Amino acid sequence: VNGRLRMPDWLKRDLVHGGDQNQLRLKKQLRGLKLATVCEEARCPNINECWGGGDDVPATATIMLMGDTCTRGCRFCSVKTARNPPKLDENEPENTAKAVASWGVEYIVLTSVDRDDLPDGGATHIAKTVQQLKKEAGHILVECLVPDFAGNLSSVETIAHSGLDVYAHNLETVRRLTPWVRDPRAKYDQSLTALKHAKETKPSLITKSSLMLGLGETDEEIEQAMMDLREVGVEALTLGQYMQPTKRHLLVKEWVTPEKFDYWKTKGDELGFLYTASGPLMSIEIIAKVENDNAIFL
Ligand code: SF4
Repeated sequence: VNGRLRMPDWLKRDLVHGGDQNQLRLKKQLRGLKLATVCEEARCPNINECWGGGDDVPATATIMLMGDTCTRGCRFCSVKTARNPPKLDENEPENTAKAVASWGVEYIVLTSVDRDDLPDGGATHIAKTVQQLKKEAGHILVECLVPDFAGNLSSVETIAHSGLDVYAHNLETVRRLTPWVRDPRAKYDQSLTALKHAKETKPSLITKSSLMLGLGETDEEIEQAMMDLREVGVEALTLGQYMQPTKRHLLVKEWVTPEKFDYWKTKGDELGFLYTASGPLMSIEIIAKVENDNAIFL
């Protein structure tokens, strides 16, 4: 009636809610440490899968650094926006490291809001968190899902040299839709340049990116975006369904079928990605485990 597409059964099945004990315990711990998690802030539909686990720890957790207020306003994202967010909590790197070390996880994703108000975009703060975490629990593989730092390549280097294992920055969507989907300060080529620079700065890093599908992109455009990512050396890719977080955000144009996601997984393999995760609910997941200090892709 209002242009909204009905959610297909394959998604409904997986979105059954439940606040189980494990989730509640983790939420309490995170609040106590004044940490925000992107899972909650961005209303990630995978929260039950990731946090519900059955084990005593989440399969993996994604921690959002530098507060819960972003200087940007992407039209797919429900994180709140302000021109001047509160100043950084200088204890955050240490608090984060302690919390994560106590969970016994093998893999952690550190992400953040964009902080265009800070001269380095927050790169030093993120790097400090990685260093603290590696000091507390050196065996944990650390992925940083970072902003584009407004094209500031010295910030990219700060992160690349921080000791992290996976450098992730999301292209989010195809070239044509970028100005409409992402904040105007986020640019398609700026994102590719950041990924390229991270890889060149430290070639042993795994670089990773992600695309949301269902925003009205064509198959040719998706394939081009995948080739552009390979061109700048990106090795790991995730493709997931765009989900409208609130009524004020972009409408879903298409529910991409699980079969089509399989097709993109095959395409990713053909294009030479080391790892392609592609599925309707594929926004956050474990991509590697540790064996004898090596990252093994699952
Ligand atoms: Fe959300 Fe965009 Fe800010 Fe990232 S930069 S937290 S996607 S509004």
